[in-house]
Amino acid sequence: MKIEKVEGRVFTYPAKRSVDSAGHAHPGPEIQASMGMVTITADDGTQGHAFALPEIIRAHVLNAFARKVLIGQDPFDRERLWQELEHWQRGSQGQLTDRALGAFESALWDLAGRKLGLPVHKLIGSYREKVPAYGSTMCGDELEGGLKTPEDYGRFGEKLVKRGYKAIKLHTWMPPVSFAPDPRMDVKACAAVREAVGPDIALMLDGYHWYSRTDALYIGRELQKLDFAWFEEPMNEQSTASYAWLSEQLDIPVIGPESLAGKHFSRADWVTAKACDILRAGVPGVGGIGPCLKAAHLAESFGMDCEVHGNGAANLAVTAAIKNCRWYERGLLHPFLDYDVPPAYLNSLVDPMDEEGFVHLPTRPGLGEDINFEYIEAHTTSRY
Ligand code: MG
Repeated sequence: MKIEKVEGRVFTYPAKRSVDSAGHAHPGPEIQASMGMVTITADDGTQGHAFALPEIIRAHVLNAFARKVLIGQDPFDRERLWQELEHWQRGSQGQLTDRALGAFESALWDLAGRKLGLPVHKLIGSYREKVPAYGSTMCGDELEGGLKTPEDYGRFGEKLVKRGYKAIKLHTWMPPVSFAPDPRMDVKACAAVREAVGPDIALMLDGYHWYSRTDALYIGRELQKLDFAWFEEPMNEQSTASYAWLSEQLDIPVIGPESLAGKHFSRADWVTAKACDILRAGVPGVGGIGPCLKAAHLAESFGMDCEVHGNGAANLAVTAAIKNCRWYERGLLHPFLDYDVPPAYLNSLVDPMDEEGFVHLPTRPGLGEDINFEYIEAHTTSRY
């Protein structure tokens, strides 16, 4: 079996969101958002698909790297192809990103699953068929009835528990919100949610990512009093020493790194530097399902959990294929938005959640996305 084609396309779909000046998504008026899809086709006609933002899989990235490495090769040689793509990264002047690597590698997994008639988590080797989810809120805002006040977070927490969530992660206020960042407001929001949902719901905080060490220590100590399950990315993750300093002083598990570059390699450095108590890796951020599994297995070898960052089919497959991950991150959620409605380019949700708070793994072959190919074809704005 040989890869014949690597194609990219951009299509539009309606979304009710706006992105603020710092890149955080909030509810907003309906817009036509753009999405990219990479499709890898083998000589027997089997295809694999992966979604990524259009900028990540733009034409130059396909022409200069993906096609050179992939075409003519056996699509089942995922590890070798990933290593060869990674080799191209060094000389790519930053153009071949980890996220692009992740998209190409995920499409190879999708192709393999579709060829063999197996969901990707079964192909990896499953640990479970359903994973408990935490409801992951959007960042705070200044919308009336949105996520403007600690009381808003409390009310929303109650609503999420009624929906079935057994765990909730708050993203609190960040600039350009006028009063952000504010450690005391973050703690107030956390206290309001704990008060609203009671002691039996697991709670986590993922707030402003550029606090000082002393602000992070203050928040962490308050979260301990509120019996929070973890404290995520309160400081710049490029400073491993700051995280080692914080982890040393707190009892609450510090989790990371999420946004730090360096794939599984930098995760290994964090573990040995004692910079976190729970490791973190997500498929797009670390360059694919393979490196995400490597990070999770590394954590397991050190007796640590590795919580998978972000939603979506590839991340869900990893959470189902490892033991040392407690939750699937479902979101981002907001009182004004209905997460249980799939985007127009999918016929059904990839991560449906039952009333007990479990997300059930897809059973269809590949990554399990129920792709609406007709919709995508009708709304394609460019192909390359
Ligand atoms: Mg995070």
